[in-house]
Order: sequence, then structure tokens, then C-alpha cells
Amino acid sequence: MPDTKPILLLPERVWTAGEVHARWAVLVAGNRIAAAGPADRLDAPPDAERIELPGQTLLPGLMDLHSHLFLHSYNRTSWDDQVLKESEAYRTLRAVTHARDTLQAGFTTLRDLGTEGAGYADVAIKRAIDESLIEGPRLYVAGRAIVATGSYGPAARNYRPDCCLPQGAEEASGVDEIVRAVRHQASHGADWIKVYADYRTGPNGETRPTFSEDELRALVATAHDTGRPVSAHAASDEGMRRSAVAGVDTIEHGYGGSDATFALMAKKGVAFLPTLTAPEAIGEYFFGYVAGKTEPTAQMRLAEQGFRTALKHGVMIGCGSDVGVFAHGTNQRELAWMVRLGLTPAQALLAATSVDAKILGKQDLGEIREGFLADAIAVKGDPVQDIAAVKNVTFVMKNGRIHRRP
Ligand SMILES: [Zn+2]
Repeated sequence: MPDTKPILLLPERVWTAGEVHARWAVLVAGNRIAAAGPADRLDAPPDAERIELPGQTLLPGLMDLHSHLFLHSYNRTSWDDQVLKESEAYRTLRAVTHARDTLQAGFTTLRDLGTEGAGYADVAIKRAIDESLIEGPRLYVAGRAIVATGSYGPAARNYRPDCCLPQGAEEASGVDEIVRAVRHQASHGADWIKVYADYRTGPNGETRPTFSEDELRALVATAHDTGRPVSAHAASDEGMRRSAVAGVDTIEHGYGGSDATFALMAKKGVAFLPTLTAPEAIGEYFFGYVAGKTEPTAQMRLAEQGFRTALKHGVMIGCGSDVGVFAHGTNQRELAWMVRLGLTPAQALLAATSVDAKILGKQDLGEIREGFLADAIAVKGDPVQDIAAVKNVTFVMKNGRIHRRP
């Protein structure tokens, strides 16, 4: 580690792992938390840099396990136009600013679920962040992602039939092609394998399952052989059911999930990332939805139903927002949604810290605890009383390095 001085953080209170600790201090040495406990009993070296955070709550760096750094808000540029008209170089430059905005907003870890047509540029962004060339969160990336042939976008039906359209993910059909795609993506640096288990392929654009159960099983087995977990996009009950049966590790969206399917997920330990903010953003862009003024859209109601069903069956629920559909750096909207739909603020904070760390399989992340990686943020006020406090980030530390100061 660089020979930086130890840092002593002195907030009003510390929130970690569901508990509030008044007048705690936290000592950081190198990239790890060296000590965390009552300020009057914590022995800090005399040369430690003291950072006072009066009136502020220190909490573990927040996580968002469903992001798209290579997308920007659809109301300004449609998804098709981003994929078809923006070069990979341009999209990568945008992603650099998105990564910085995300970190400044207190999100120190992201799982980025597919570049949507920008190849493996996410692997490059991750490397540049790790080498401190640019500022951004700790990244887990999925590379190109895998879709069934002809199922994704830009959709062929919307263009002249002889158009050769670049796609938002890698197409595959049949066990052989799927196994090859998984191995390719793993070899190019994907940390997770992302698969679209369903998409809007029905005759009238209805969501239909895309891969067969056999195809999904082959995908999961190959990914797990390489030591990589699998994330499945699934918005229909059948897509979710096939994914869970095939043994994926997380299911994204889950808007149409039935009681039986969420119960199956709970039984098999499949985690759920509800992406509640994406339907709200789509509602705002295209259906005239205004928070507090108009009725929620049909898709928003479905998302709410899926979330409540998951809660009822005790499914592990993490924080994953689908940011990229909406502005980077406003990831905290997802926590506000989870609270609106029945979680306590402390439960929502747990989802975005300890639970997300568990989903990532990281045992030294997501808590303010001795020996853990030093990812910590401070916010004005007390987010356990009012989750809106997570909007007011004053201090950001990742890996022991300070990226924002009060
Ligand atoms: Zn997504």
C-alpha cells in the first residue's frame, strides 16, 4: 500500500450491519479499517489525520448491483440510438464521467450488467479505476452479456430486413454456442455472466422466455465451472422459473413473478435485484408519470407486486437499480423506492451494503468493521430516521483513499 498516514474518522454516529453506534471513531490504515469503536477508547497513532464529521452519519460505502455505465438516460437519446450511433470510444468517455458521478454520490461498488453493445469496454474502465487513472467505484463487470439469437435489440422488426444491426449483447443459440459465448466472455474479463432469460419477443412485443431450460442449464454449468456467478434478466414468471431451476445466482427485475417462483428462489437461495427505479424513469419519460401527481404506470404496479411477493417469501433482496436508464449518481432513488414499498430505512441500507456484499461473495466488504476494506461514506443527518439523507453525501472513501471531503 502507498505510505499514506493513517486516517481517523470522527462522525456523530456510525451505522453498520443494521446497528447505530453513537460517538464511534473509525481508524483507517492503508486500504483497511484498522479499528472501529467508542471514540474515547480508540487508540489512534499521533500522526493520524483527523477528519471531524459533526452532525453526520458514517456508513459503509453503498452498492448498486445492477448498473449500466455505458448507457445514459433514454429520454435524451433512445437506447437504439445509443447502440447504433454512438461509437465505443464516445460511450467509454461518457462512462468515465458516469463512474465519477457514481462514486461522488457515495456508491463505492457497482456490478455493471452489460455494456449494451460497447464490447468489453467495461473491463477497460475497471482497469483504469483500479490503476487510479480515473475515479470510480469498485467494479464487477459482465462484458457483452448473452442473449438468444434475434431476441434483443435493436430489434430487426423495426428496421429494413436487410439491415445488419449491431446488437446490444452477444447472440447465441443452442448449447454449443452458449458454452462458447460463456467461455469467450470469461476469457475477456467478465466477472459475472449476464444472460437475458426473456425479452419482448412476442408477436405484439410481449415478454417471452428466450432460452430453453437446457440452454440455461448449460450456461450456468459452464459459468460456474469457470468460477463465475450468473445474473439472469427475467421479467416474466416463466423466464424467472427457468432461471431459478437452472441454478442462476441472481434474478433481475422479476416484475411478473408468481408466489410459486419467488418461493422457489427463496428455497434455492437465488437473490433478487428488484430494479424499482427503472419503471419509474420509463414512466416519467414516455408515459407522463409525475411522482405524487399521476397514478403509477402498469409497469410500476407490476414491479411493486413483484417486490412485495419477494418480501413475503423471504427472498434475499439486494439493491440493484438499473441506473443508466436514469441519471448516474442518483442511484439512491432505489433505496427510497424500497422504503416506499415496505422496507425500513435500516433494511434498505442493509440491502445496499451487507446483503449486496453477500451476493458478490465478498466477506470483507459492506461493513464498518476491523479488517474490512475501507469503503465508507458520510451523509448529513441520520438515514435511519429518513432515508432521504443518503442524498446528502459529504465524504467518500474507497479502498482507504478519500475521494470527497466535507
Ligand atoms: Zn439492466
